[in-house]
Amino acid sequence: MKLPKIRELIEAIKALIVGPYTSKFPKEPHVPHKNFRGQPKYDDQKCVGCCACVEVCPVNALDSKDIVNKEEAKRTMIHYTDTCIFCGQCEAACIADHEGIKLSNDWELAFFDRSQAFETIDKELQLCEICGDTIACKDHLKWISEKIGELTYSNPTLYLSRLKGLGIIDENIISALKDNGRSDRVKILCARCRRETTLTTKE
Ligand code: SF4
Ligand code: SF4
Repeated sequence: MKLPKIRELIEAIKALIVGPYTSKFPKEPHVPHKNFRGQPKYDDQKCVGCCACVEVCPVNALDSKDIVNKEEAKRTMIHYTDTCIFCGQCEAACIADHEGIKLSNDWELAFFDRSQAFETIDKELQLCEICGDTIACKDHLKWISEKIGELTYSNPTLYLSRLKGLGIIDENIISALKDNGRSDRVKILCARCRRETTLTTKE
């Protein structure tokens, strides 16, 4: 008969005193180690909807979808939990101080219906006030404005969306004229409409 080694005996005695290393899951809930790298989670308060995380994800586990209609204008950030490999690239690239999406220690990912293996958050979109095209998420414009400080006031789209966000101005203060000319410049505009209103010869 093969005799146990000293190290194994020590481990066995230790396990008798401090308890086993394994948990009794599923009879008892398993508590993961504090450094466990589980699935990432979006934080709808901190994420600004810039999509940098979507760009860096190596397995296309992240995506975004813009929905613009009469009722709403929103960007849905999507995390496909069945595709994610928990690499943490999204958290590392997140412009919101790495807090818009963060690895959690959520490890229990079993599901019955694979089509339901995703999580989403919604971010409000800012649309161009002339053509209605998407400019960016409102929180992203605010993030840019906070980054560049007083330079915000060199760009009407930035300062108007900021002032609107603060509730300092409302729609009535913005020019009601729609001639795609100079009177339309003080509006929240996409790059194309900004160029057209700036270069137009209309007064
Ligand atoms: S942890 Fe990696 S694989 Fe998962 S969503 Fe983030 S970047 Fe993609
Ligand atoms: S703020 Fe961070 S989590 Fe949100 S879309 Fe940008 S990179 Fe992704």
